[in-house]
Amino acid sequence: MTADKKESTRKKIAATNEMKKIMADYYYELDSAVKNDSQKVAWCTSVGPAEILRSLGFYVYFPENHGAMLGSSRMSTDLIPYANAIGYSPEVCSYLTSDIGAYLKKVTPLSKVYEGIDSIPRPDVVVFNTNQCRDVQDWMTFYAKEFKVPILGIHTHTGVNEVSDTHVQSISQQMKEMVEYLEKISGNSFDRRKLQKVLSLSRECSDLWKEVLDTASNIPSPLTFFDGIIHMGPAVVLRGTQQAVDYYKLLLNELKERIKNHEGAVDGERFRLYWDGMPIWGRIRAHSELFANLKACIVASTYCNSWIFTGFNPSEPFKSMARAYTELFIVRADAAKERYLKRMTDLFKIDGIIYHDSKSCANNTNSRYGMPQRLEKETGIPSLVVNGDLNDLRCLSDEQFITNVEAFIEQLAEKK
Ligand code: SF4
Repeated sequence: MTADKKESTRKKIAATNEMKKIMADYYYELDSAVKNDSQKVAWCTSVGPAEILRSLGFYVYFPENHGAMLGSSRMSTDLIPYANAIGYSPEVCSYLTSDIGAYLKKVTPLSKVYEGIDSIPRPDVVVFNTNQCRDVQDWMTFYAKEFKVPILGIHTHTGVNEVSDTHVQSISQQMKEMVEYLEKISGNSFDRRKLQKVLSLSRECSDLWKEVLDTASNIPSPLTFFDGIIHMGPAVVLRGTQQAVDYYKLLLNELKERIKNHEGAVDGERFRLYWDGMPIWGRIRAHSELFANLKACIVASTYCNSWIFTGFNPSEPFKSMARAYTELFIVRADAAKERYLKRMTDLFKIDGIIYHDSKSCANNTNSRYGMPQRLEKETGIPSLVVNGDLNDLRCLSDEQFITNVEAFIEQLAEKK
């Protein structure tokens, strides 16, 4: 694809510089904690119990964020075969295979972005939650063995239609049982008030992040999916901290200013789209330009909304975390997902839905069991399924992607 060379018509967000700074501070802090042996480091899956870890004084590192960096830096495709060679199939999560490949080759995009950081931070413990998929368990198990550190996991119910008290109770109990082990590893005693404080900051971060994403319900939208996946960094790795809260206040002000000035993220916005599924990290810029040049703004997505945890309630920390981490879209049955998508298409005034069928992530792919057809029949909103992958660019045909998107936009234009 040559779109990388074209001039982008997606407007830059000024707050990006501040976001780069806080992300740099986050990675340098982790690096220094390991180099100076000053603080324990926990690795955690991205929708795992980060709040419990932070409240016990751990610095928290998220391998999935590293996986996304491997994808966006386009290092993944060369690294995946090293993980395949030790038995991880090309069919399983390409975050997992690119991350393990990078570990085996002793490379990291962190060194390219942050001078002086030579490697990922060594963990003292790894913690996962299967609310996303089983792949995270296998991924974290690999590292627990490599680094010879304890591994703790929460096993979540999947395919849930309505989240019940029984679900919440069982997840809450698993979270509570983790605490005793984490106390020993961290050397700190659990303090309920600290957890409540962290959870309150996480909730504030989540509410602000929701407000940021909801600004896109305005016409024209002040931000796109491509802005969202860049600016979600603090909501993933820094939720539970004041820095994330401060950052989203700054970003929100800028977006409100755009709304006031009727300034859209895409010049001459004509089509409003919804993206379901994983981003294609190695083509962020190219896809952003492709859609912007077609006057199409992807105004909402399942992916960016996955870091909204409105269920967090500091007065019931374990119960509310259990509920919020089980109410996630990815954990739910198709019936619940479809109800959610219908609400989203109404709120964001969607003209068309794009489903990304991601070769190595069945968990974030929703087009394989009739959902696009059912929703289209009910709402009349046309949809397109694109084939690709989050990180493995060998699964993507750029030409086919462009042709399909252009044809879809033509189809939407005929309806206008
Ligand atoms: S949800 Fe998909 S992308 Fe995320 S860790 Fe699981 S398999 Fe990988």
